[in-house]
Amino acid sequence: MKKHKIKKRDLAKLLSEWSNEFTILTPSRAEGATKWTKWDGVDTTFLDWYRNTTVPPKALFLPAMEEMFSFHRDKEGYHIEAPLLDTPKQLVFGIRPCDARSLALLDMTFRDAYEDPYYLAKREGAVLVGLACTRPYDSCFCTSLGSSPDDSSHVDLLLTDIGDEFLMEAITDKGNKLLTSTSFTETAGKAAETRAKESKETAYRKVTRKINVEGVKDRLLSCFDNKDYWEKVALKCISCGICTFLCPTCYCFDINDEFIKNHGERFRNWDSCAFPLYTKMPVENPRPEKWQRLRQKVCHKYEFYPMNFDVIGCTGCGRCIRLCPVNWDITLALTNLPAKAECEQEK
Ligand code: SF4
Ligand code: SF4
Repeated sequence: MKKHKIKKRDLAKLLSEWSNEFTILTPSRAEGATKWTKWDGVDTTFLDWYRNTTVPPKALFLPAMEEMFSFHRDKEGYHIEAPLLDTPKQLVFGIRPCDARSLALLDMTFRDAYEDPYYLAKREGAVLVGLACTRPYDSCFCTSLGSSPDDSSHVDLLLTDIGDEFLMEAITDKGNKLLTSTSFTETAGKAAETRAKESKETAYRKVTRKINVEGVKDRLLSCFDNKDYWEKVALKCISCGICTFLCPTCYCFDINDEFIKNHGERFRNWDSCAFPLYTKMPVENPRPEKWQRLRQKVCHKYEFYPMNFDVIGCTGCGRCIRLCPVNWDITLALTNLPAKAECEQEK
């Protein structure tokens, strides 16, 4: 695949060119948080402050609230109007490798036995232009999960900061097409590749938080009923749900109907297994205790995803650590997990 480079000062021109075909989404600061919004056609200063977004890119494909279809009632009864199935051509510019991986993990659930048409329609039209990390947070631990700040596995095109320029590596055919469709890039030489390699190695060394995930599924399985341990883990949690709402791989949602004056809408909105009221409407919450709910957060990623899809469902993005109001830390919950033998003895 092709390797090009582009001067940073030409980036706005490149994005403008791509915006003829795609809606360009870039990180932006709004309402006290950073999230993905439509590019304004001019500003590229996000490159100066952006490390990762508060709101993960799942919000582009599984919005916090989404209308599924509308309906109306007349003398003959209820009539459902066509579901809203958009396939927008979205180019997500600057997505971090861990977040691109999170979408690949979500795909497994949304393409499983039930194929979710709303999510998949949006994924279909999307192109992911990744930006390798140069300033990971203290809370990041992607390298413990087989990834890295420059992981290109799930992007179409990967950009690496090499000073006044970006190296651009096409990873997929979609990425290759993007590179060949622009006149603002030039073929990258050996020097650009060497600088990119140095930049990637430096970023890798900056990810200092580590966890050992060897045998983690089995360790969790044997400690599943260790109430004492999970109570200790959950002690300071206030069940606010932030670690699930802002986790790029959490996807629980609730479905509701709003019906006013013979016209209604069915919509879905994010829900969280951290809430005591979770699933309370159809049945009882199967996890009434806080420790059971936090255990679910950990086991969903590190026990159930490996069981269902043979892969850990966490990217190591660290959002649940840095955004938790009481400094709960999933890496500690995993690191301090009692040994298998210890848990088995207690049974
Ligand atoms: S963000 Fe922290 S306090 Fe809130 S539910 Fe998660 S662990 Fe509990
Ligand atoms: S569990 Fe935490 S570290 Fe893992 S993907 Fe979710 S927010 Fe990121």
